[in-house]
Amino acid sequence: MFFAPEETVLEIRRRGRGFQATETAPAAVRLAIIGVRACDLAAVAIQDRIFLQDLFQDSHYAARRADALLIAVNCTHSAPTCFCASMNTGPQAKTGYDLAMTELDEGFLVRAGSERGASIIAALSLGQATASAVEMEVRAIAECAEHQVRRMDASDLPGLLYDEAENPRWDDVAARCLSCTNCTMVCPTCFCHTVLDVQEIEGNMSRRVRKWDSCFSLEHARVHGFNFRSRIHDRYRQWLTHKLASWIDQFGTSGCTGCGRCVAWCPVGIDLTEEVAAIRGSRGARTAR
Ligand code: SF4
Ligand code: SF4
Repeated sequence: MFFAPEETVLEIRRRGRGFQATETAPAAVRLAIIGVRACDLAAVAIQDRIFLQDLFQDSHYAARRADALLIAVNCTHSAPTCFCASMNTGPQAKTGYDLAMTELDEGFLVRAGSERGASIIAALSLGQATASAVEMEVRAIAECAEHQVRRMDASDLPGLLYDEAENPRWDDVAARCLSCTNCTMVCPTCFCHTVLDVQEIEGNMSRRVRKWDSCFSLEHARVHGFNFRSRIHDRYRQWLTHKLASWIDQFGTSGCTGCGRCVAWCPVGIDLTEEVAAIRGSRGARTAR
C-alpha cells in the first residue's frame, strides 16, 4: 500500500536542443487500512525504517504513509502457515496502530494506539469494556499463539546462516526452487526494485519508472555484464540469509515477521522454517562427528 509496485519518479522531455527533467510529485492520497495484522504492523515498521529513516527519505512512500489510518485486528485464529509467535511479532498488535480490534463472542473490543484512534473512540458511543471481555481477549490471543503449527527457532540465526554458507541443504532447496519470485512479491518487508527508462515512440519524452524487483530474478545480480548470482543456489541462499541474518546487521531487526505468505504462495511448497530447521539440524550433525 505504501511502496507502490510501479510508479514514475521522473519525466524527461525534449525542449528544443536540450532536455528538461521533472521529478513527479507523489500522489496525494489518504489511506485508511482496515484489518492490519500484527505481522503487517511489524512489516510497516521495517519499511518505515528503510524508506523514511535513512539519509534520503522516499517522498512517494512518505506521502502515502504520512496520513494513513491503521486499524489493526488482533488474530484469534492462525492460518497453518503463520509463525509470528516465534518471531515475536504477533498475534497481538502491540504498537504502530491507531485502533486495534479483537473479535469476541459478545462483540468487538477496541483499543486506541494513538491520539487519532482515541478521538475516533471518543466520537463513537461505545460502552466500557468489561473485565470478562478483556480476559476473553487475552485468552483468545494466547490460544492463537499456542496453536500455531509452524515455528522458527530464531536463536542466533546470523551465526547459523553465516557459518553454514556451504551447507549442502542449499543445493537441496535450489533443486526444488523455481526462482519464480513469488515469495518476494508477497513478502511485506521486501523493498528491492529496479529503475527503467521508458521512452515514448516519438523520442520526445522518457519516463523513469521504479518497479518492484526480486533477488530471485536473474537480472537482479547482473552488474557490468557479469552475474554474481547466476545459480538458484546463490539466489535462495542470498534471500534467506538476508532476511534472517544480514538484515539484522543492516537494520537492527529481522527481515521476517513470520507472516507465512511466502510459504502460502510458493508453488513448490518451500517453507523457510523447514529450511532453517534442516540447516540447523545438519550443523548439529556435522559438529557431532
Ligand atoms: S516462491 Fe518458492 S519456488 Fe518461487 S522463488 Fe520463492 S522459494 Fe523459489
Ligand atoms: S520471509 Fe516469508 S514469512 Fe517472513 S515476512 Fe516475508 S513473506 Fe512473511
